[in-house]
Amino acid sequence: MKILVAVKRVVDANFRIRVKRDGSGVELDNVKMAMNPFDEIAVEQAVRFKEAGVASEVVAVSVGPAKAEDTLRQALALGVDRAILVQHEGRTEPLGVAKVLRALAEREAADLVLLGKQAIDDDANQTGQMLAALMGRGQATFASGIEIAGETVRVTREVDGGLRVVDLTLPAVVTVDLRLNTPRFAALPAIMKARSKPLAKLTAAELGLDLSPRLTVLRTEEPPQRQAGVMVATVTELVDKLRHEAKVI
Ligand code: AMP
Repeated sequence: MKILVAVKRVVDANFRIRVKRDGSGVELDNVKMAMNPFDEIAVEQAVRFKEAGVASEVVAVSVGPAKAEDTLRQALALGVDRAILVQHEGRTEPLGVAKVLRALAEREAADLVLLGKQAIDDDANQTGQMLAALMGRGQATFASGIEIAGETVRVTREVDGGLRVVDLTLPAVVTVDLRLNTPRFAALPAIMKARSKPLAKLTAAELGLDLSPRLTVLRTEEPPQRQAGVMVATVTELVDKLRHEAKVI
């Protein structure tokens, strides 16, 4: 079984985001970048399937600038077999990425495509869903458990108020949630070894695709500043404030 796993290079989750002065987006100069945290979980799951002998090969794919090679090298250090970078300068959008992933899933004859449930930069939560629709395959989103048995993948999904278990026929698309696993750290020897693992580079045009944006970002704004909290001495005072100042009860 071959697994394709999508990894996006995003602003590091621990870095404080700054909006550009002209509101055209967020500052990306001199900003620490990292693998999208949900994609780390997808990589970990794919590597566990490889280690368990369930998967024969794991291929990581990223659509992004030349620097996204670093993110793919990290995936290789974590145990992925080989990587494909589809070079694209500028913003990527879920539909464009989904088209690239479909082209590569078909070219690679992938049985399972694993993605994060969302990229923490645009919070779109769309790519996996669009990919499944384009491929005409089953999808399971927000996975907190994935088991493979023959031609079927059983996915436990995190839904409002509980868990839902679904069976999909392979090939299929699965997007992963936070509680699926705890990603490992790459050991130094693995990081060294990753440098010599195969990493192919291509462009969207070579796949016959056009990744020009279909969406226009009108404005990006900082969230409103939060007011400082107030300490109250008694429950009576709290109730009084909630009733007469906040007017929420
Ligand atoms: P999104 O729909 O943008 O929230 O992203 C959902 C998932 O799609 C991410 O967690 C990644 O697994 C994948 N993805 C999105 N954009 C890219 C990209 N540029 N390159 C590779 N994978 C991506």
